[in-house]
Formats: sequence, C-alpha cells, structure tokens
Amino acid sequence: MLLKVLVLWFFISGALIFIYCRRELVAVWREPVLRRPVLVIESDDWGAGPAKQSGVLDEILRLLAGFSDCDGRPPVMTLGIILATADGSKFRSNGSYQRKSISEASYRPLLDVINKGVEASVFSVQLHGLEHFWPSALLTASEGNKAVKAWLNSAPLAATEDLPSPLQSRWVDASVLPARALTRMDVTRAVREEVDAFQSVFAVIPEVAVPPTFVWTRDVELAWAAAGVNVIVTPGRRFETRDEKGRPADAGAPIYNGQIGEKGIIYLVRDVYFEPSLGHTAKQALTALELKARLCRPALLETHRFNFLGTQAKKNRALAELERLLRVAVKNYPDLAFLSSGKLATILKNRDPEWLEPRVWRRLHIWITRLGELPRLRKLAWLTGWIVPAGLLLRLTA
Ligand SMILES: [Zn+2]
Repeated sequence: MLLKVLVLWFFISGALIFIYCRRELVAVWREPVLRRPVLVIESDDWGAGPAKQSGVLDEILRLLAGFSDCDGRPPVMTLGIILATADGSKFRSNGSYQRKSISEASYRPLLDVINKGVEASVFSVQLHGLEHFWPSALLTASEGNKAVKAWLNSAPLAATEDLPSPLQSRWVDASVLPARALTRMDVTRAVREEVDAFQSVFAVIPEVAVPPTFVWTRDVELAWAAAGVNVIVTPGRRFETRDEKGRPADAGAPIYNGQIGEKGIIYLVRDVYFEPSLGHTAKQALTALELKARLCRPALLETHRFNFLGTQAKKNRALAELERLLRVAVKNYPDLAFLSSGKLATILKNRDPEWLEPRVWRRLHIWITRLGELPRLRKLAWLTGWIVPAGLLLRLTA
C-alpha cells in the first residue's frame, strides 16, 4: 500500500514538475555536453577610440603566445571590434555627426597588431558594432546633456566606456528613457553597413557578433543572419531595451550554449566575468572554470579593453591576473582546450562527436548535475522528494 502511494506521489509530482519546468528540462537536455574543458577569453570594445590600444594588444599577444593546450593551440582572445566613432572636429564645427573609421591611416598600427595576432591564432576578430552607440541617439542626447556634448567634442579619442551606460547600447534609441525601439528599416540598413565595414577592414564577413551592452532585438538577429553572421554571443538572455532607469530590460527566455535561433543562428553564453580592474582575480575565474568543466560547458570569460588601458599599474595587474589564470588552468586541466568562439560554435552546431559526448548515460548524468544548479528545480526536488531518485540516478550514471 505504502509503495503504491509513493509511486503515485512521484508520478503526479514528477508530471507537475515536468509541466511547470518543461522549458528548462528540455533545453538543458538538448544543450551539448563537452567531453573536455574549453576556455575562451572574450574581450570587447577594441578598435575605435584611445590611441594606446596597439601597444597593450602587442603585450597581450606575446603573453598568450607563451601558452598552449595539449594539442598545441594557443589561448584565443576574441576581440569584439568597434569599427568607427564620432569625428569630434566635424561636431565642433557644425554640430553634425560624422563617422571616423578605423580604416583611416592613424589606426594602421592597431590593425597591424590585430592582424599579427590573428595570424598567430591568438586573436579572433568579432563584430561588436560599427559604433558602440546609435549615432542619432547620441546627437539628440548631446542637446540636453553637457557630458555627452563634451564627449562628442573630444571624439575620436574619447572612450565609449565613458558615455552614460544606456547610450552605449547600439540597438535602441536611449536618448530618452525608457528607450525607444528602432525601426526595422533602420536596423537592416545599419547592420548591412557594419558588416560591409567589417569586411572592408578585415577582408572577411564577421562570423560572430557581440551585441553592445547585450541589448539587441529579433530584427537585429535576422539582419545579422541575412548578412552572413552565424553566431551571437549572449549573456544567457536577450535584453531588448533599457527601462526608465536605464537598466537593460525585457529579457527574453533563457538562452543555452549551442541553441539554434531563427535563420540557423547559433547562440553562445558568456557569463564568467573577468575584469581585473573591477577586482576580479584569476582565482575567481579558475573557480568558475571548475564549475563549467564539471557541468561540461565551455567557459567564456568576459574581459573588456578598459582593464588593459588606463594607468600602468592597472594594466600590469590585469596582465598578471591573465597570466596567472592561464598558467594555473593549463596545469590543473591537462585536457583543457583553447578555442575561439567561432570554432566552438561550429563544434556545437555540427554536434561534432570528437568534442561532444554521445553516450546517453553520461549525458543523463550531466543533465541531472546541470538541473541541480537551477535553484527553482532544486527547491522543487527537495519539496517533492524527487531529490532521492535524482540522487540515485546520479550515482548509477557516475
Ligand atoms: Zn562593448
């Protein structure tokens, strides 16, 4: 009798959990299971802006080239490229917006070092944006905001990181808050323009796009896909706008690594923050890598260029933390793989059996382990008693 009641209880509660959480249960099951730890260093905002980027990128290049994984691949830092910024002299003379592109001669040293790093397979260029803002929104904002006006006056050497955060979002008009949506026509035109600009500078269509400030829309995705972009780096959600306080808002459903979106675009999730100038250490990044390795997920580390610019002490600290991270990671994980985000996305999309786990029992084990990391499911499992069969299954498949 007791057994019957127990079976009935697990059946009913299990069905309810499934109905309530089916989206996560199915999405996590579909998410690829990596057979070895993977580390990608993702760095944004390089390109237009301060002049001293080329020197520090050369230092980063040499640092990365000093390491390799067991297959002889060096660590890859992806560079999210900003292709242009405002021309301050034009703004000062007549108040108009004109673009200053990194294809101009003054950016030659920067492009040389980027290309040198790409050839050495330590850099991989990704599209971050034609500008790190929506130009007409910036122009409108400058009318009532002295700081924005001063920024435009000091462009092109001014850093976009110094703009008010909402205005750094390219795919909304944040000159007013809550931000206004852009028209599909404007988005399509701007995407075409930025992909063409990327191609004219780097002679390839960008394979990977990283939406500035992680605010973007379905229209942007469709336009990127139509222009040849295959991969979008996400923080695990798509924020579509900025709210009345300027915060990223309207987050969609959770996004998982290897998930395929419309027009075959593939998503990656970058959610490990490694910004040494904000106090993040190699030790913290290694703890995150450990968790990712346990969950058979890739570790995509986010580190912006601002860590490597600024004072000498700040830059040296960032380089030292990066060096420590790589040194310990290689030592702790003999099978660690260094990949670019583009290569990783191709592996996930093709379900490459050399890299991904095909065995069902092993995938079941990782599925339960990953579900255990979701607070809502964990709570439900404890409340209903499902934690016991889940734990048994975990042992059986270990
Ligand atoms: Zn950025």
